[in-house]
Amino acid sequence: MSQKQTLSFQAEVAQLLHLVTHSLYSNKEIFLRELISNASDACDKLRFEALDNNALYESAPSLEVRVSFDKAAKTLTIADNGIGLSQQEAIDNLGTIAKSGTREFMGKLSGDQKADAQLIGQFGVGFYSGFIVADKITVESRRAGAAPEDGVRWVSGGAGDFEVETITREQRGTSVTLHLRDDALDYLSTWKLKAIVAKYSDHISLPILMRKEEWKEGEDNKGGEMVLTDEWETVNQASALWSRAKKDITPEQYQEFYKQISHDSEPPLAWSHNRVEGSTEYVQLLYIPSRAPFDLWNRDKAAGVRLYVKRVFIMDDAEALLPVYLRFVKGVIDSADLPLNVSRELLQESRDVKAIRDGSTKRVLSMLEDLAKLEKDESASEEDKGKYAKFYAEFGAVLKEGLGEDFANQERLCKLLRFSSTTTDAPTVSLADYKARMKEGQEAIYYITAETLAAAKSSPQLEVFRKKGIEVLLMADRVDEWALSHLQEFDGTPMQSVAKGAVDLGSLQDEAEKKAAEEAAEVFKPVLDKLKEALKDKAQDVRVTSRLVDSPACLVASDGGMSTQLARMLKQAGQ
Ligand code: ADP
Ligand code: MG
Repeated sequence: MSQKQTLSFQAEVAQLLHLVTHSLYSNKEIFLRELISNASDACDKLRFEALDNNALYESAPSLEVRVSFDKAAKTLTIADNGIGLSQQEAIDNLGTIAKSGTREFMGKLSGDQKADAQLIGQFGVGFYSGFIVADKITVESRRAGAAPEDGVRWVSGGAGDFEVETITREQRGTSVTLHLRDDALDYLSTWKLKAIVAKYSDHISLPILMRKEEWKEGEDNKGGEMVLTDEWETVNQASALWSRAKKDITPEQYQEFYKQISHDSEPPLAWSHNRVEGSTEYVQLLYIPSRAPFDLWNRDKAAGVRLYVKRVFIMDDAEALLPVYLRFVKGVIDSADLPLNVSRELLQESRDVKAIRDGSTKRVLSMLEDLAKLEKDESASEEDKGKYAKFYAEFGAVLKEGLGEDFANQERLCKLLRFSSTTTDAPTVSLADYKARMKEGQEAIYYITAETLAAAKSSPQLEVFRKKGIEVLLMADRVDEWALSHLQEFDGTPMQSVAKGAVDLGSLQDEAEKKAAEEAAEVFKPVLDKLKEALKDKAQDVRVTSRLVDSPACLVASDGGMSTQLARMLKQAGQ
């Protein structure tokens, strides 16, 4: 096929294009980061495919990105010699949004520019960001290994459609040429482009090249200007950030790298960068985000860590590298031991991966412990003090999944939990705080689960605890009931749901009350028997209780049984 073909964008793309050009307008320069990152991805893909087929390198084994511009033509070009695109791939990848969840994404858009821009970033609509500064984009490409006659040209004005045609192209890889809008001509400047590369793409692990400039005197020594030469120079650091020594990396560089891999525009709460040596060698650079992504609750999409083997990119979202309950963590693991052709299946079984996973889990827990320590650290700034609460508000419920998922670290996890309680509304009570405030003679940590905090707080089951001044933890996360069922005790003190059985207040129960209840049970026996008979299909037992103060009656679950809240949840889930 050599004639031109005009095709329409998928409806979502057209919509997205409109959005991208309008809502990302205040942060135009990111288009360069996106296009360079695509070029770098394309080189990673080539390197990966070439592991099995060295011929793909053709005659150009060193991978690179070239950024150039033409002032007269008002164009800016980002070219790579990576994997390239076949005609069909150009149609598929540049005309549709292949990723799942697009509709969900569109539904989340709020119309608020700033929030939408962040979402767009998270979703990675990278290529289309070119249209922020260009009113036309020309892509020319040839796939590695394909014949020169099988090249493709893709052109679009970013409205409803695009054109594709077959071209002959000697060089392998892709060049993306932006025909700049009149209000974006300031990007035709070496100085400006270099500054943007330094800001966003310094750590890209392959060289980004630009033409050198040279001062040229004007006629008769009057005036002069910088002119482009034919010589190219590398304008980025071109080394993988995580492979550099810690002391050579600034906080800004760590943060910029985070943005790059997470598509999150907010800075991370914390990071940890280590070279682990021993029987398994790897580098870990792990980040705790400050904000939950929109798909946090999707346990299937459960991973944020990229795997590299000796700086060669292997895969995104490598779920074997951290347990599911730490899916909010972003970062990079670079292993010196794994084979380059490692697959997801192989990862699951590898002993090296198991060691990496254990080590990384511990690392994340200690990062969280450090954040939690800051809460009570007098010398910490207000911002630092608030970090753990911020983390917990976003990810606390996910962390709790770990109680049932990671028994080896349960003890450490418990200490990281925070709750609201009958004495403290804010969700800031740790189990240790609770223990320190326990009443003399109190033998258990009491908690109640309900659908909302308000419901938990107003439960009649709390009456006796209130009366006696005993603190009760209030829980209303969906996961609480399940998570707490895996936690029998904290630091030697049993956990006790107040919604279960005849809560034994131990020595806190005063004798007179117990006696009064026993007497009442005698006196009311005929009434109780009648009630039991009447409720025999609905209730296991009917008892006189000393737990109520103001309410006449309440429902409790039997000791070994499910609590009413869990029963309700299972019922909702259709079980
Ligand atoms: P993402 O990079 O998140 O996949 P983009 O919108 O940035 O999304 O790019 C869409 C797709 O277009 C890429 O997944 C890739 O298949 C293709 N693509 C973009 N740029 C290039 C390039 N320089 N070389 C090869 N393929 C590319
Ligand atoms: Mg991209």
